[in-house]
Amino acid sequence: MARKCSYCTESIPFGTGMMFVYKTGDIRFYCSKRCYRNDVIMHKKFNTKELKEKAKSSSQKK
Ligand SMILES: [Zn+2]
Repeated sequence: MARKCSYCTESIPFGTGMMFVYKTGDIRFYCSKRCYRNDVIMHKKFNTKELKEKAKSSSQKK
């Protein structure tokens, strides 16, 4: 069963990558340390452009 990286959505072959369990019980899989670091430690979003546009449109509604 192939898992997908929670950050870059690449499929992760069994036996590779890493798993991260949140205090809330959520389980995330990462294909590499880089993806893990960007998501968990740096809190970067993979598609920053799209998110910025979403934030703009939601703030305009207010
Ligand atoms: Zn990844």
